[in-house]
Amino acid sequence: MKKTIKDYDLNGKKVIIRCDFNVPIKNGIISDDNRIVESLPTIKYAIENGAKVILMSHLGRIKTAEDLPENTLLPVAKRLSELLKKEVVFVSKTRGKELEDAINKLNNSDVLLMENTRYEDLNGELESSNDEALGKYWASLGDIFINDAFGTAHRSHASNVGIATYLPSGIGFLIEKELMMLEETINNPVRPFTVILGGAKVSDKIGVIENLVKVADYILIGGGMSYTFLVADGKKVGKSLVDKEMIDFCKNILANYRNKIILPIDVVCGKEISEATEIKECDIDEFSDDNMGLDIGPKTVDLFKEYLEKSKTIIWNGPVGVFEINKFANGTKRVCEILTKLDAIKIAGGGDTGSAIINFGYEKGFNHISTGGGASLTLLEGKVLSGIDVIADK
Ligand code: ADP
Ligand code: MG
Repeated sequence: MKKTIKDYDLNGKKVIIRCDFNVPIKNGIISDDNRIVESLPTIKYAIENGAKVILMSHLGRIKTAEDLPENTLLPVAKRLSELLKKEVVFVSKTRGKELEDAINKLNNSDVLLMENTRYEDLNGELESSNDEALGKYWASLGDIFINDAFGTAHRSHASNVGIATYLPSGIGFLIEKELMMLEETINNPVRPFTVILGGAKVSDKIGVIENLVKVADYILIGGGMSYTFLVADGKKVGKSLVDKEMIDFCKNILANYRNKIILPIDVVCGKEISEATEIKECDIDEFSDDNMGLDIGPKTVDLFKEYLEKSKTIIWNGPVGVFEINKFANGTKRVCEILTKLDAIKIAGGGDTGSAIINFGYEKGFNHISTGGGASLTLLEGKVLSGIDVIADK
């Protein structure tokens, strides 16, 4: 078990909290503040416990000086101040006297946000390559380090792994929740435990499939990846997306876990991935050579429903169709609808899966929708996240 923010006496201490404020911003306007909202419990706890709160986060990518203005955290400081109903001191520097002076002026329960950690990527990717001197310098600004940035926890950066190497450290409430929902659930699921897997390619999900097929009772496969499995099972799939190099991998999985794996029995086809294309529902055995499978069909939805209704724990990663296009969004919407009505533990991981659920308005039907795409996939693969591994043990 990792130490958490609750394991430290924060009163009067300079507490650096690494948050994930990587929110979409256009012309200074934040279009989705969910990540800021998810960071509030940890920040509020630090305020309530008398810490001098120093917040750090990355935002976007910095390759050239032109990337700097559009990736400033200033709009985040303003939004955070509204949400906390409290002043947030914003320092437009990532090092130096101005930053150090502002930190030294903090009183207990004051909050400061430093400029985007990736501003340090401009001269040699110091943040993203976990430059040792930079991690040491940032650590020198505080007394305690709390990592609550789940979205980057799978990466080794100066602002997470670097700082944690040099300070007493713990995880925040968001990371604690993500670990409990994803890692603990996989390690100790209430059974039957069913996984819904979709998304585009088998090759993106090899680790996820290999890890979950061992522990799940059923794996329902939809989305682009189902066609490679269907080909491995001897079916014809027309022009659907097939990962040729993955056919043997799928054959192997089917040979070892046949009774756990449920493949689509019908599909919604189109000639191209567009809103204008003509669509057709067909059984798997009726695939025509010029058609692509772009969503699961109604019979597959019913088949998946049977398995979902008898499950006590469900993890979902990967949309079951090209949900960005209305004509192929039905399967993904139906899965959302079915899950919402079930009395089971329901967890979603993966960037596109989360946005599909939120866009279709079904987030209330889930116990947890992971806030990190890559980081949640890494947990589903059963791997350790480097930004968490480095945190002190209890
Ligand atoms: P996540 O981000 O949740 O891990 P992925 O990135 O693996 O999910 O997959 C999402 C993508 O998969 C979406 O862009 C969706 O359009 C695509 N997809 C789903 N079904 C199909 C299909 N049948 N053919 C092609 N692409 C598909
Ligand atoms: Mg994705």
